[in-house]
Amino acid sequence: MTSRAHSTRRRPVACLAALICGASLSLAAASPADPLDLPDFGSSADNVMSTTEQRELGREFMKWVRKTLPVSDDALATDYVESLGQQLLGASRAGGGNYDFFIVDAVTINAFAGPAGHIGINSGLILAAETEAELAAVVAHEIAHVSQAHLLRAFEAQRQMSVPTVALLLAAAVLGATVDANAGAAALAGLQGAAVQRQINFTRANEEEADRIGIDTLARAGHDPFAMPGFFQKLTQANRIYESGAPEFLRTHPVTTDRIADAMARAERYGHRQRPDSLRFHLIRARLRESSYSRAEQALDHFKKTLSQGRYRSEAGERYGYALALLRAGRTEDAAEQTKRLLEAHPSQMELIVLQAKIDRRRGSPDQAVSDLKGPVGLSPGSWPMREAYAEALMEAGQPAAALSTLEGLVALRPDITPAYSAMADAAGKAGKRVQSMRWRAEYLYRSGDLEPAIRQLELALRQPDIDFHLASKMQVRLAELRREESGRKRSDRRRE
Ligand SMILES: [Zn+2]
Repeated sequence: MTSRAHSTRRRPVACLAALICGASLSLAAASPADPLDLPDFGSSADNVMSTTEQRELGREFMKWVRKTLPVSDDALATDYVESLGQQLLGASRAGGGNYDFFIVDAVTINAFAGPAGHIGINSGLILAAETEAELAAVVAHEIAHVSQAHLLRAFEAQRQMSVPTVALLLAAAVLGATVDANAGAAALAGLQGAAVQRQINFTRANEEEADRIGIDTLARAGHDPFAMPGFFQKLTQANRIYESGAPEFLRTHPVTTDRIADAMARAERYGHRQRPDSLRFHLIRARLRESSYSRAEQALDHFKKTLSQGRYRSEAGERYGYALALLRAGRTEDAAEQTKRLLEAHPSQMELIVLQAKIDRRRGSPDQAVSDLKGPVGLSPGSWPMREAYAEALMEAGQPAAALSTLEGLVALRPDITPAYSAMADAAGKAGKRVQSMRWRAEYLYRSGDLEPAIRQLELALRQPDIDFHLASKMQVRLAELRREESGRKRSDRRRE
């Protein structure tokens, strides 16, 4: 549903969506003498909404995102955008806070920021960015929407609504322009035209502010600040070239020539920066490019051509994409040969180590993968891609209990990695730990936004015979927490009705 006719008819959705980009963080106030005129609103997101409510809003929002969009579960690609986001946050004046960066498997060029710091980036946008600075420009722009609490401010007037209703409205606004969700349409029907109009007037100011702060963050992180106006300009040109394929980003963040000129003038104040692209940027781009082809042969053709013609920014990236395509096409030994070349040049590169392990498993040698991964996992215990690859190899090597324990080690360090709980439930099941399996299945359901099924799963687990006392008490504590959350939610719904 992305034809031009529809985009015209649904203009209010797109305009509203343009505004719906941020939430959650309190901004470290700029000092009065700040030469960059960074804004100080005087009130933070925390004054608009309690942190508990923001978190709940974020969770409800993500539930809609997962229902409407194909959120990627690719550990390597997600880990990359997460680390790019953290690098920018570390450099930004707003500082840290709770952010969650994820990838949406969609070729359309778009990025969006929801409540509680949830920032989604389409794989199409990563492919459209030719340099890491261009991608960083968009991520920095989205971070600024969040740190300035644009989203919460816009919905301040909707305080009488319950959290689930606001979450639905936000999801409809953010995702409505991307996907024709029935739920989104229903929620939007409840919005008054006047309210929408008022919010459209906010849009331009929000966008300019996100550009201004984003450029500051880019420069502080050492990325070229000109990447922001430069990339936006390129997207506008793409808009003119491809009639049907207008970048979604331009509809959710309207770019005008004035805005590009302002951003250009702003970038001039900082001057050029020359941070080279990371190897990871090129590897992940090639990875997404490879998986964007539905058939392995198409991917093979693409990478064979770019490698033979020398049309690439990074030979290693291109060769990695080629190796992935070879592996998908069943040419395991050819993939191994390419990977060996890459590993000789970059022996500690995570993407390559994980690929080698996959090749070993494909060769029927999961034990080799297990022994190759053991060291790297020990060196980076909080790495989701490494632990995931290790757990998969252990499962295939017939060691599900060891797979379970490596994943438990991961969530002890990084409890927010939702897909890990599903893998833990599988591993526990294979290891014959039925109750553990149900416990982790419940946790997975809860973290995917399914609170009631999670409660039912935990209740069922606690009714199993011969349950270990310590495990039972842990589950009882968790069950009580989830029940409290459920009754709190019902209370707040009643209060607002
Ligand atoms: Zn924006």
